[in-house]
Order: sequence, then structure tokens, then C-alpha cells
Amino acid sequence: MAGNITLTMIKPEAVAEGNIGGILEMMNKGGFKIKALKLLQLSEERAKAFYEVHAERPFYQDLVNYMTSGPIVAAVLEKENAVQAFRDFIGATNPTEAAEGTIRAVYGRSLESNAVHGSDSDENAVIESAFHFSAEEIL
Ligand code: ATP
Ligand code: MG
Repeated sequence: MAGNITLTMIKPEAVAEGNIGGILEMMNKGGFKIKALKLLQLSEERAKAFYEVHAERPFYQDLVNYMTSGPIVAAVLEKENAVQAFRDFIGATNPTEAAEGTIRAVYGRSLESNAVHGSDSDENAVIESAFHFSAEEIL
């Protein structure tokens, strides 16, 4: 399965704005198959652990505060070459630079509130999927 999955999170502002359905629909129409899905709220401790790779970056604490500010949706998605295909599909980190028609261009609000997360490597896709889901929850 590795190589064909990626982990996404629909971020707090997109959930708060009522865009879960619109974003999941875009993912499905883009050929990404949902393998696991849940609504959850990250604790400070869990958010810090998820973003551990960014611990030294200046925006780390802001990112943790933001990602714990409300419910999010986590999902495992399947497609050939899923990690890169999904990063192309969501667009650049900053929504103002995201290509037209990408999820971040449509639903992103700012560099921080950029609607969705996407794994950045096959290795991290597996780690991040296991962070949010048990093996029994990935179908
Ligand atoms: P994600 O990991 O959420 O898919 P990404 O891989 O495009 O996004 P990263 O470099 O991993 O970008 O940054 C993680 C998140 O941190 C970004 O999605 C964004 O919300 C936030 N972020 C990144 N750079 C900055 C910055 N310079 N200032 C504030 N927030 C930032
Ligand atoms: Mg990233």
C-alpha cells in the first residue's frame, strides 16, 4: 500500500466554514479514494507531536495553536503516486500562490489557514496515517 496513500487533514477554518463536504467532494472527483475518515480535535500535545518536524521553525507554536483551535477532519486517501498527486491537487502552501482550481485556491484563506494538509513523503504518509488511525480503521 505504501506509495499509494497519503494523509490529509481538513484544517479548523475549513471545518468551521462548513467546507468538509465541498473538500471531500473535490478529493473524490480528483480520483482520491477515502480509506479512513474521522472528525477529531487535536490536543496541544498531539498537535506538537504531529508537527514535531517543524519544532525549530518560528511559526511552530502558532501552527500548534491554530491546529488545536477547533475540530479537524483526518483522512487516508488512496491513489497512484498519492503523495505527489495530492500535493499537486491541493496547490502551494500559500493559497495566494496556489494554482487555480486547487483545494487551497478554492478554500484556503491564508498561509496558515490553508484549508488542508497533505503528507510530504511516502514515509510520512505511513507515519501520519498511523498517527490518526489504527490498522482496523483503514479500509
Ligand atoms: P502541510 O504540511 O499543512 O500540508 P505544507 O507541506 O505545504 O503544508 P509546511 O512547510 O509543511 O507546508 O508547513 C506546515 C504548515 O505550517 C503550512 O500548511 C502552513 O499552515 C504553516 N506554515 C508554513 N509556513 C509558514 C509561515 N512562514 N508562517 C506561518 N505558517 C506557516
Ligand atoms: Mg508539510
